[in-house]
Order: sequence, then structure tokens, then C-alpha cells
Amino acid sequence: MNLKPDEISGLIKDQIKNYRNEMEISDFGTVMQVGDGIARVYGLSHCMSGELLEFPNNVYGMALNLEEDNVGVVILGPYREIGEGDIVKPTGRVVEVPVGENMIGRVVDPLGHPIDGKGAIETGETRPIEYPAPGVLRRQPVKEPLQTGIKAIDSMIPIGKGQRELIIGDRQTGKTALAVDTILNQKGKDVICVYVAIGQKQSTVAQLVSTLEQKEAMNYTIVVSATASAVAPMQYIAPYAGCAMAEYFMYQGKHVLIIYDDLSKHAVAYRAMSLLLRRPPGREAFPGDVFYLHSRLLERAAKLSEELGGGSITALPIIETQANDISAYIPTNVISITDGQIFLETELFFAGQRPAINAGISVSRVGGSAQIKAMKRVSSKIKLMLAQYRELQNFSQFGSDIDADTKKRLDHGRILMEILKQGQYGPLDVADQVMIIYAASNGMLDDIPVTSVKEFERQFYVYMDDHYPEVKREIHTTGDFSEESEKLMRKGIEEFKKVGFING
Ligand code: ATP
Ligand code: MG
Repeated sequence: MNLKPDEISGLIKDQIKNYRNEMEISDFGTVMQVGDGIARVYGLSHCMSGELLEFPNNVYGMALNLEEDNVGVVILGPYREIGEGDIVKPTGRVVEVPVGENMIGRVVDPLGHPIDGKGAIETGETRPIEYPAPGVLRRQPVKEPLQTGIKAIDSMIPIGKGQRELIIGDRQTGKTALAVDTILNQKGKDVICVYVAIGQKQSTVAQLVSTLEQKEAMNYTIVVSATASAVAPMQYIAPYAGCAMAEYFMYQGKHVLIIYDDLSKHAVAYRAMSLLLRRPPGREAFPGDVFYLHSRLLERAAKLSEELGGGSITALPIIETQANDISAYIPTNVISITDGQIFLETELFFAGQRPAINAGISVSRVGGSAQIKAMKRVSSKIKLMLAQYRELQNFSQFGSDIDADTKKRLDHGRILMEILKQGQYGPLDVADQVMIIYAASNGMLDDIPVTSVKEFERQFYVYMDDHYPEVKREIHTTGDFSEESEKLMRKGIEEFKKVGFING
């Protein structure tokens, strides 16, 4: 067949002219096969990837596999009602969730429907769950601290607004506790929190919500929950939905903290879904794009440039390891995507060192620039001192005689470790943290029996508030302490040790 150029251009023009018309032709699909939460749908020739599709009885699905003669759809909700031959309507929209101020204080499922029994949520606005991450030019470096209120983190592994910091550890090592304490510490700090629960027990989530309510943290928090009983596709979209809700605030110039608890279960849900869609499995049977799954999510955490309002999303993804194995596929992936990680260890946890943070291998690659000066000054030495302590401790276990100098260092390390212990639900003000770490790292507490350190700490904050409130005030207003305040701080510590501290 020989086509002349003007015929070709005529054909193309015709096509362009009728392009819209063709799109508008209603384009229903028919369910060919359904099972395990996956439907194969015939028709839907203009379906987009990620498009929301409507099944009968108000059940929705999301188009994931666009194949030549059918579309693979994951069903978001009860799928037993759907049968072969059912009509599927395209919606022309990708999956979206409601966003806005009214979401705050609510517990919702990954489609944004309330599940807390407090009635409908009026927002009037939606956002697609998948959204491109801001590019390099739309960002700026992390520069403001996001205080967790946890001494071990704020001093040694500081987190900045817009950072992505991984919390990683075996089961029951206090991962969720760290995240929750960080939420509690945002009270009155103009940070909106989003907690995304993926694949957890319903009772665990209910417990967490009631804790947040008790501590008045729900006033600034949204909980997105896809529990273990939710279908895999719901668990899969949960973090993206949470992120969309967070983005709404970030693009308004506000600060958001988002927690993904946890991404291991997210990857497992995605694996289940992908295998059912017959996507080829790769390492550990995860599909090949599981890295992209998490990177496109975490890249959406950012500190926006001033022109865009300077808002931020700080992300704390959580990963559960098996027997401390951080070299498994999902842990290594997420470690490489984040700006640092906080390692929690079972051994430390059971030895009573809680939060069970292994300071030796935990890092924060960008947060240091966001740390307040006062904290930077007092904490610069402690990581090194703790590393020395651990080494000496291993060495001195063999029971050999130790010289006075070694003993002194061991005692000092022991005090430091004791100071870094912290109970749950007790986030600490940054100025209090600075004062106690100043005292401990300068060896001023080395003559206190280890067993009395906790009590000492408790009374010390009160004493300083009563006698030298100006020190704290200065740290709060300037973020640093002057020579004058340092003198007062020393004086306060000495005085308190001599006369103020009531032991026992
Ligand atoms: P999972 O793997 O089940 O999700 P997790 O790693 O999230 O567990 P948490 O649920 O946060 O761990 O904590 C496990 C237990 O340890 C809880 O009972 C919690 O109360 C306790 N715990 C956590 N942190 C501390 C702490 N700093 N001091 C005392 N107890 C703590
Ligand atoms: Mg947990």
C-alpha cells in the first residue's frame, strides 16, 4: 500500500480532530475473571495506570496491569460480591483521597473514609495518592530541627525537618514507641502528624489511638489505618494516601511529620498483590519494582524552597528486621533511600537500655546541620565516649585487673548510658536535655552512684527551673548558651549535688 504524504497528514489531522470524541465514548469493561482480590477486566481500552474503577455495589478497584487485551485490577474492599460478567465503569480519575484541615483528629482508612465512628468528614478537596516528588530546585537543605524529645536521638542522631530517618529493629524493640513519643513531642510546636498503620493488629492501633487521645495529641494528628485484616491492596495504598494528606499541608507552607509503621509489612502486601497479578518475582520473591515502591514514597518527604512556602514533610519509616539482619532485601533498600537510620536492638532492650538504640551504627546524615547550637556543643563528644566505653566494656569482661584510668572511663560511660535511658511517653524539653547532657558529658555526675542517676535527673530539672530559669530561657530563645549561662549551669549542678539532691 502506498500512501501519499498529503493523505497521511489528512489522516493524522482527522485523528487529532476526533481524539476527544473517541475519549468520550463510554468505555465500560466486563469482569472476565475474579478471585483473591484481583479482577481481570475486558474492555476499558482507555484505562490509565492507577485509575479508580467502579464495580457494582460501590466497590472500587485500582487498575494496575494494563495488558493488550485486558486490565488487571486490584479490588479495594470486599471482593466476594463481584462476579464474572459484572460491568466495570471507568472514573477517569486516578485514586484520590480527601485532604484538608478536617482530616486532623480523625482515624481513616486508606481511601480516607472515617473509621472512628465520629461521622462524615467534610473536606471538599482531594489529592491523588501518587504525586511526583518535588525536584531538586524546589527544595532546600534541611535546616530546622525536628525535636523528638528523646535524649539519645536529639543528641546523637538529630533529625531535621524534611529529613527521612529510618527506624529499624527486630520485633518488640520499641520502634513504635519512638515514633509515638516523637508525635507527643510535637505538641504546641505547629507540626501536623500523620501516623500510617500498615498490617498491624486492630487492637494495637486502637490502643495507640487511645494513647494519642489521652495525651491530647489527636488534636494535631491524622491516623491512617490498614490493619492486618484489610485486603493487600488497601495496605499497599495506605502510605501513599497518608503522604497525600501530608502533602496538602506541606504545600501550604506547614510542617508535617509522617510515620509509616511499617514498610516491611507494606512490601509483603505488595508482594502478595503482585504475585496474584502474575508479575514475575525477583529476590526474596518480591517483584522487581519494590525498590521504586519505597523510593517514590520517601522522595515525597522534602523541605520545600522559600518560594514554595518552605513547608516540609519529615518521614520516619519503620522497618522490622528478622534476627537483626539488616542485609535482607527490604532493609537494605530502605536504608539506601533514607538519610540515616536508628537501629534498635533486642539485646539492649532486654538489658534495660531503653530506648534500645545502638549508637554505634545509628546515623543521621543531614540532621546535624539542623541541631541547635547548644545541643551541638554539649553532645559532640558523647558518641565517641560511648564507642570507647563499649570497647572497654568488652575488654574488661575478661576479668583482668584494670587500671585506675580505665576504671574511670568505664564509670563515666556507665553514667552516660544511664542518662540516655528514657521511659516511654516522656519526651523531654530540649533545654533540659542540654543541661543534663552537659553535666554528664563533662564528668560532673561520675561521682553519683549509677542507681541514683534517674532520681538525680528527675530532681535536677526541677531544681534548675526553680533556681536558674534564665539558663533554660536563653537556650529556648537563642538556641545557644553564653559563657554566663554556662557558669550558672556549672554552679547549679555543683550546688544541687551538694545541697539540693535528696537521695533515697
Ligand atoms: P512490634 O514489632 O510489635 O511493632 P515495636 O518494635 O514497635 O514492636 P513497641 O510496641 O514500641 O515495639 O514496644 C514494645 C514494648 O516495649 C511495649 O510494651 C512498650 O511499652 C515497651 N517499651 C518501648 N519503649 C520503652 C521505653 N523507652 N521504656 C520502657 N518500655 C518501653
Ligand atoms: Mg510497632
